Formats: sequence, C-alpha cells, structure tokens
Amino acid sequence: MSWDLEAELAELEQRHLRRRLRVSETQALNFASNDYLGLAQSDFLKQTLLESVARQGAGSGASRLVVGTKGPHQRLEEQIAAFKQKQAALTFSSGYAASVGVITSVVGSDDVVLLDKFAHASLIDAAKLSGATIRVFPHNHLGKLERLLQSTAATARRTLIVTESIFSMDGDECPLREIVELKDKHGAWLLLDEAHAIGVIGPGGRGLAADLGLADQVEIHLGTLSKALGLSGGYIAGSRALIDVLINRARSFIYTTAPPPALAEAAAGALAHVSGRQGDSLRQQLHQNVQQLRHGLQNVPKDRSAIIPYIVGAENAALELAEQLRAQHNIIAPAIRYPTVPRGTARLRLSVSAIHSSEEIQHVTDALSISMKAS
Ligand SMILES: *Cc1c(COP(=O)(O)O)cnc(C)c1O
Repeated sequence: MSWDLEAELAELEQRHLRRRLRVSETQALNFASNDYLGLAQSDFLKQTLLESVARQGAGSGASRLVVGTKGPHQRLEEQIAAFKQKQAALTFSSGYAASVGVITSVVGSDDVVLLDKFAHASLIDAAKLSGATIRVFPHNHLGKLERLLQSTAATARRTLIVTESIFSMDGDECPLREIVELKDKHGAWLLLDEAHAIGVIGPGGRGLAADLGLADQVEIHLGTLSKALGLSGGYIAGSRALIDVLINRARSFIYTTAPPPALAEAAAGALAHVSGRQGDSLRQQLHQNVQQLRHGLQNVPKDRSAIIPYIVGAENAALELAEQLRAQHNIIAPAIRYPTVPRGTARLRLSVSAIHSSEEIQHVTDALSISMKAS
C-alpha cells in the first residue's frame, strides 16, 4: 500500500502539473472568465437576483421530486425548451451534473458512446459511469467517426455520439452538419454540448445547432447557465420523452437538493436578456472584441468563438508566460496543461468578453508580443 500523498503532490510539482487555488484579484484584467457577455457582474443581473431572492427566498429545501420544484423551476424549463426549439427541458445544479445525468440515463452496458477526443471531462466521466462501451474518435474526424458507426451499428442497442459545438479548450467548432448526416444514416443519436455557444453564437444566442437550422435533428442539447448566462446550473433540452426519462432515471437530478428557486428565476431573466435585443448588442460587441484579439495575435486560428488558444507547447513555458502576464502586465490568462489538454499543447486560454474595452485587448496583444520576444 502507498498512502504517501505528499510524494504524489511532489511528483506533480516536478512535472509542472501541480494545480493550486488562487483567489482571483478583481482589479486585474481578466481574460480567463467564461462570462462572455459580462452578465455575472452586471447591475442588471445582480438586481434581478436580489429581487428574485426577495420573492422566492434563499434555498429550495428539498429535491425536485420531493417538494423542491417551484414555479420558477418550471417556468425556466419551459423558457429553455422554447429557446432551444425543443419540446421540453430539465435543469440541473450544474452542467457537469447535466452531463452525468443524461448520459447515464440513456445508455448502459448494451450501448456504445462515440466521444470526440477533446470532449469535456464531464462528458467523459458520464460515459464511463454509464457502463457503455466507449470509443473515442480523433477530434472532429468524420472518417473515423463513420467507421466507428459502421462497426458498432449492428451490435449496439443504442449508439450515442457525444461532442461539443464550441470546444472548451480550442474554441473551434464541430462539423455539425456532417455529424448530423452521419448519425441519421446510422440511426445513432447525438448529444451536443453547447456550453460555450449559448449566448454567443446563433440567432438570439441559441447556439450552433440553431445557427445551422439543425436544432430539430439534435436529440440531446446540453448547456449551462454558468457561462454567458452569468449564473450557475445546467440543462438538457430534448423530446418530452427524453426529459421524462431523466426525471425518472438521472441520479444527479433526483438525489440532490433543487437549486434555489431564486436562481431559477434569475436565470429566466438572464435568458430573456441574452436572447433579446440587449443580447444582440452584447453579442455584436463580443464578436468585435474577438476579431480584434484574434487579428492582433500571431498563430491563433481564425475561428469565431470567444475562446482563443495561444499554444505554447511545454507545460513550464505556459506556466511562465501566464505568470509573466500576471506579474508584469496585470493580465489574468490561465495556462492550461495536461490532462485538460493533450501533452505538448500547453497553452494560454484567452477568453474574450463583450465588456472588454478595445484598449484592454490591445494591452493583451502588446503584452504577449513583448513576453514572447523576451523568451
Ligand atoms: C463548463 C462546461 C461544462 C460544465 O458546466 P458547469 O455548469 O460549469 O458545470 C460542460 N461542458 C463543457 C463543454 C463546459 O465547458
């Protein structure tokens, strides 16, 4: 037996992989947040949440199936269903809980999950927990995905493709149209995680599926209330039958206390804001900022998402660059390392918000150019 946790930590340290919690300094320039529209700190959302608490109280007091379901939960779920153009929706305490809840509810040991190599940890954990056979396809690789579909179609009870619309570490998009064609051809289902697309991409910020007119063809939509919507919580949208199965089977939904009704009410307010005219103008500003930063940096892909990977390579080089930006330029941009991203692709993950000013973005491009020249 080996219970030497200190040695385990020392080994992480030595490989430049040890992580530490840092209290984030609010006065620093933040290029690390997923608060893409600046809602989390907005007067609008703070006020909405305060008023919701005054009306709805603090906690929910019970799980959803006991006495925890209140009017705001139901209204939010109806609103999400309409927003996602699906029959129904269900909210969870987090996007992570939504991932785990849905995948473990719809597939099991007779089934196959086909996972994009870069899928979020919550999706990987969920697939493992489901007991299904997991096959990983190289990132966005349609040829390999098709071969996997061909080889599993005959034997699996169900095949579920799991991917993201905007990938959380690279900020690129999946080839959704082609994936939808493939899964229809082989009778598979698709789970599309739109965590980083909601509020950011598509009409009213409805995400990539809506942007391509494919919302109908995606069976399972996953999203979070914790990124562009500025709060916390996750959701699944899909058919009425899917949602009813989740209510009956999703353990991360059933065996946990319902999120505070005030949070649900505020999320409904955030969603109305984001999908309306104010949201449109925030998105316009966001896209302008994204373009400015992407154009101001060398060697970053010309995608449209607000996540910009600035690949450095070695783990320690990425750490040093992040530290230099923080110490010398007052910029927070996290180094992302293995195991979050593949070895040798350590990077700064820059995320842009609608509330960054043009000067702040210029400051980042200047600082990176100075730091890279010096290194
Ligand atoms: C953040 C994220 C989640 C989890 O959402 P939380 O609400 O933060 O738990 C799921 N999938 C992806 C792709 C994410 O980036």
